[in-house]
Amino acid sequence: MWHDTGTGALVMPAGLTVQPLGHIESPEGKRRIRNLVEVSGLMDHLVQLKPRPATEDEILRLHTKEYVERIKNMSSEMGGDAGEETPFGRGSYEIALLAAGGCISAVDAVIDGTVDNAYALVRPPGHHAEKDRGRGFCIFGNIAIAAMHARQSRGVGRVAIVDWDVHHGNGTEHAFYSDPTVLTISIHQDNNYPPSSGALSDTGSGAGEGYNLNVPLPPGSGVGAYVATFEQVVAPALAAFRPQLILIASGLDASAMDPLASMMMTSAGYRTLTRTVLAVARDVCGGRVVACHEGGYSPAYVPYCALAVIEEMAGVKTGLEDPLLELLAAMGGQDIQPHQEAVVREAAKLAAGLVAAAP
Ligand SMILES: [Zn+2]
Repeated sequence: MWHDTGTGALVMPAGLTVQPLGHIESPEGKRRIRNLVEVSGLMDHLVQLKPRPATEDEILRLHTKEYVERIKNMSSEMGGDAGEETPFGRGSYEIALLAAGGCISAVDAVIDGTVDNAYALVRPPGHHAEKDRGRGFCIFGNIAIAAMHARQSRGVGRVAIVDWDVHHGNGTEHAFYSDPTVLTISIHQDNNYPPSSGALSDTGSGAGEGYNLNVPLPPGSGVGAYVATFEQVVAPALAAFRPQLILIASGLDASAMDPLASMMMTSAGYRTLTRTVLAVARDVCGGRVVACHEGGYSPAYVPYCALAVIEEMAGVKTGLEDPLLELLAAMGGQDIQPHQEAVVREAAKLAAGLVAAAP
C-alpha cells in the first residue's frame, strides 16, 4: 500500500492542463478489498500467508540485470518512471520485490499443501512488465516470476496462466512465447492496452506454437461473453493441457464500473469464472490454483468482485451482498452478442487444437 504512483490526469501526467488527481493506480481499491474481506467475516475462514521479498536471482529469471539495477537506483533516489506509464516513488523497488515474492510465497504454500489455493493481493501489478522495462503500472512480472519459480525451483512440469485482467497480459505472453510448458491464456478487451497487442493470431512461436491463447473480446462484453469464453475456450484448453498448477492473473478491471475499460462484468460474473477454473483445477491438478492480483480501478466496485472470487476459492459464503449487482446485471447487453460470439468461436478452435506438451 506504500507504493507511491504520485499524481496524474487519470494515467497521464497532469502537466499544466488540468488539476492533478491521485494516479488511477492507487492503494485504495486494494485496501478496500482487504477491508471487505475482514468486515464480511471471510478473513476468519482464511489462512493468512506471510509474503517474503523475491530474491534478485528470482527477479533475474525474467528481467535483465540492467533493468533491475536501474529500478533499484531510481528507487533509492526519488523514483521516476520504470518505462511506459509506470511511475513510482522512493522505496518501490523493495515493495515490487515483495509483490513478486508474495506470489512466490503463495505458489509455495499451495505446492506444499499448507493451503488448498491462494489469493495474492499484491501491488504493484505485474502482467504488463517486459524483460527490460516497466509498462502499464507494472514494475516486475509477478505472475511470470511465480510461474518460473514453480517450474525451475519446485519441479512443476506444466503451468497454466489464465489472465482475466481486461488488458492484454503482454509481459506474461512474451515471457513464455516459445515455451510449451507454460500455457498462457489472456482474455481482454480488444486493442485496449497495450495498443496493437493481444491478437487472436498470436499463438506462440517455435516449440511454444499453440501454447499462447488470446481472446480479444469486443468492448461492451458482459457476463454472457465472459462465461462463454471460460466454458468454450479456457476450460477445454486447461483440460487438454493438464497443468499441474493454475495461476490466475486476477485483474478486476473488466467490471462494469471500471474507468480504464469498457466491459460489463459483475461480481456474480467473476464468481462464475472462478467456479469454472476451480472445477477444471480439481480434475487436472488437485485444485492447485493461485490468483495474483493485477488491475482494477473502481475502488467502489472492485472489492465486491474480489470478495466473490475469494469466497469461491475458500468455499465460504459470507452472505454479504453486492449492493450494485442487481443494477449491473440488469444492464442491456449482458447476454452474449453475435459479434462477441464470433471471437469466442475462433478462440475455441485454437483451444481445441491444444495437446499437453511433455514437460
Ligand atoms: Zn488491467
